[in-house]
Amino acid sequence: MARVYNWQLGREMSYWYPESRPKKQFAAVFDTNKCIACQTCTLACKTTWTSGKGQEYMLFNNVETKPYGSYPLAYDVKLLNMIEAGKWSGKTYEGQTIFESAPAGERVMGWRPEQVDYSYPNTGEDDCSGQVDHGALMQLPHMNWFFYLARICNHCTYPACLASCPRGSIYKRPEDGIVLVDQGRCRGYQECVRGCPYKKVFFNPMTGTSEKCIACFPKIEQGLQPQCFVNCIGKIRMAGFLNTPDKARADNPLDYLVHIKKVALPLFPQYGLEPNVYYIPPVHVPASFNRQLFGPGADAAVETYKSARKDMDLAGLLCLFGCSESLMTRWKRTGDIVVGMDDSGTQLVRVPISEPVHVRTSFDPVQKLVRINCP
Ligand code: SF4
Ligand code: SF4
Repeated sequence: MARVYNWQLGREMSYWYPESRPKKQFAAVFDTNKCIACQTCTLACKTTWTSGKGQEYMLFNNVETKPYGSYPLAYDVKLLNMIEAGKWSGKTYEGQTIFESAPAGERVMGWRPEQVDYSYPNTGEDDCSGQVDHGALMQLPHMNWFFYLARICNHCTYPACLASCPRGSIYKRPEDGIVLVDQGRCRGYQECVRGCPYKKVFFNPMTGTSEKCIACFPKIEQGLQPQCFVNCIGKIRMAGFLNTPDKARADNPLDYLVHIKKVALPLFPQYGLEPNVYYIPPVHVPASFNRQLFGPGADAAVETYKSARKDMDLAGLLCLFGCSESLMTRWKRTGDIVVGMDDSGTQLVRVPISEPVHVRTSFDPVQKLVRINCP
């Protein structure tokens, strides 16, 4: 085992291979507060990548309702019960990662789902956290809650799938950090399926090899966002590239959200993979639940997000979500306008932060007609 630095844990940790960061790291921010669980992302991915034989059950992108939804079944609760309960001292994780708690002779602490675990992808959908008493629906704030968690492969900095593979078939591209399975080398041992704590590698029984989200790399190479991003109805997603905290740039949209405002957080950072999909936590969920999913920064992230209305830069950047098919790697705000740009500073999209309100009168003097849809 090598010693590597995991900035999400605020400490060094053990990993199977030495630290080797890519030139650029593909990353994303999802705003959980905007997801409506329409599953358009799920279908956009499904029809693009997993419509073949042996891929029927695969969902490279899935959207589950928390607290009870999970795909495959209980993927999160099972592992949380297997590793030592997470302990944080401030921003430093003092518990054990899945690499450090691996049993003797194994590379990670993991488990492999059975076929039945993949059989209920929408289990818990729209189920709230508890029973709603008669009449309580009319009370605010609600005592019960749920939220939607959209998930793809995290293209982790320290992938457990890659560490688990005895064939060396999984690799992380040096140019953009996207994690891929070499179909030619894979022999279907399924150690990656066992190792990935997010269960985002799938075994194809027809080909005898494992397959996973490829971050739509043919689109990334053309400067475009992946399918599940551009098709997102709720405009909850933004893809780009993330620097390490010491190299954070205020004009990089993801750096700004993750490192500067700290409003977007990794999912289950305590596992130790340094995942590269970041979530703006839901604002209506108990703080303890948010902390278990997103780590110790969850309380502050919720407060920052709630006050975005008074923070024109943050409000502006949030307005850029879902506004361009292109990867926006730079951004700037001028007054009420926010602009998304590419690396060279070329404008890709321009969005007003506050939109004008138009009141339609009941009589239109230009068209000389009465509108019947006006009061
Ligand atoms: S989320 Fe899972 S499949 Fe994706 S890179 Fe991380 S360990 Fe591998
Ligand atoms: S398309 Fe967007 S809003 Fe719809 S379920 Fe997916 S992430 Fe949520």
